[in-house]
Amino acid sequence: MNPTKEKAMKITLAMGDGIGPEIMGSVLEIFDAVRVPLEYEIVEMGKKVALAEDHSGIGAAARKSVEATGVLLKGPMETPGGSGYQSVNVTARKLWGTFASKRVYRTLPGVPMPLGFTRLDLTMVRENIEDTYGAVEHMQTRDVAQCRRFITRPGSEQVHRYTFEMAARKGARRVTCAHKASIMKLTDGLFLETFYEVAKDFPQIEADDILVDALAMHLVLEPTAFDVIVLPNFQGDILTDLAAGLVGGLAYAPSANIGDGICIFEAVHGTAPAIVGQDLANPAALLLSGTMMLRHVGLVRHASVIEKALERTLTSMHRRPDLGQPIPVFRTSVFSKKMIEELGELSIPEGDIPKLEMKPRLEPRMRESEAKGETALRGIDVFVESALPPGALADALQGLDDSLPMTGISNRGTQVWPTGSAYTDCVNHYRVRFESASATNQPRILALIGAVASRFTLCGTEWLREIDGERGYSLAQGQSAN
Ligand code: NAD
Repeated sequence: MNPTKEKAMKITLAMGDGIGPEIMGSVLEIFDAVRVPLEYEIVEMGKKVALAEDHSGIGAAARKSVEATGVLLKGPMETPGGSGYQSVNVTARKLWGTFASKRVYRTLPGVPMPLGFTRLDLTMVRENIEDTYGAVEHMQTRDVAQCRRFITRPGSEQVHRYTFEMAARKGARRVTCAHKASIMKLTDGLFLETFYEVAKDFPQIEADDILVDALAMHLVLEPTAFDVIVLPNFQGDILTDLAAGLVGGLAYAPSANIGDGICIFEAVHGTAPAIVGQDLANPAALLLSGTMMLRHVGLVRHASVIEKALERTLTSMHRRPDLGQPIPVFRTSVFSKKMIEELGELSIPEGDIPKLEMKPRLEPRMRESEAKGETALRGIDVFVESALPPGALADALQGLDDSLPMTGISNRGTQVWPTGSAYTDCVNHYRVRFESASATNQPRILALIGAVASRFTLCGTEWLREIDGERGYSLAQGQSAN
């Protein structure tokens, strides 16, 4: 299975769960058929490890291998719904800092397009490690669950810069940033602001933006209008699957998780539990992820010849139901056999040596942007558990500190005091804002929190700060910035 060359470049392989071993087996057969000059270090990752050894699903041997080779080709890994261990896939992307997930959607010959267009070549870059995917979640009260959403300036900068650099390399004319900054003005607002800052360094590329809901519609109506799209993590998770549907389904959606050191290559799809062991799994997405990996390590000609054989294989498997040709059941084994037959017709590249230098890291890097102005503390949002009506809650918390007046109360983000509507249903979790007209200090605020805690069960606090001279917290509804 492995090349015999001494000191061949090593990559790490993890077979995955469910259909993982079947599709990885097919990919390795195809790699062998083109004599890919790589050595594979096969490690255990996924469900078995998560249940037996390490809840992350990534054991010590796998960590050591990936951090030494810098390249992981992985099969899909199972995540149990609800409680249980966290997603091994997301943990791997976050652990190894793969900040951008590049996903390529290209029409392939022989693969029916559900929407009838004939040619699509779209690249989407999903931010890969921030957003709600830290899964920093807490039950605030019995009735209220909360998930924290992190969008950072360094993280956004990193994914946007990668996107523009990649777009410039591939000669793209346009990069579009999708977001919901109209509603999430600080988080998506920061993602968008950073996008346009980075865009200034790439004047040859048109940069524009679109609300993510509008993008969903436009992707269905006119996907060919887009070239490269960059999105925050959660929105990207959903819309990249939508894009997979455009090119014939998840079986044709490859991805590269790009980091500053380690890169992970995997299909967008999951473990497909319903078809495990039935010779039904389509290896195309993992194979295309594999060719992205080959290009990454400099084996461009090996990648091209495999892609050529894939096009021929898919064309030969194509049927026209409208002309009475039956669509045969997809068989993993038939796919592998046809691929190897097609590769037999093509000339196999010789002499290419993979080149990728892995620079070992000793500790995590701190990424911090430069201050551009003053930072001042202005108050605190205190979250309390209470089933009192808003007016009664306000009465109980009035006048705790005259320099930090209570300026508003909201419930599920909707203002309920000093103004509100009897039609706003409430839950037992309020945000009470105490805001000073000028800068205040931490001891004063801690004393205020103590006073609130002596009256109500505290669920959480968020500090209100001006950062670089600008308000660093959202307004209450009905409040104006001026
Ligand atoms: P899925 O992608 O496994 O399956 C969705 C549908 O697509 C199913 O009908 C499945 O049979 C089909 N399908 C997927 N890949 C296919 C292939 N290569 N060939 C033929 N059909 C294919 O999504 P799911 O059912 O929502 O998730 C199953 C498990 O996979 C869950 O535990 C989930 O957490 C995990 N998952 C892992 C990854 C990953 O490893 N990156 C991604 C998504 C889901």
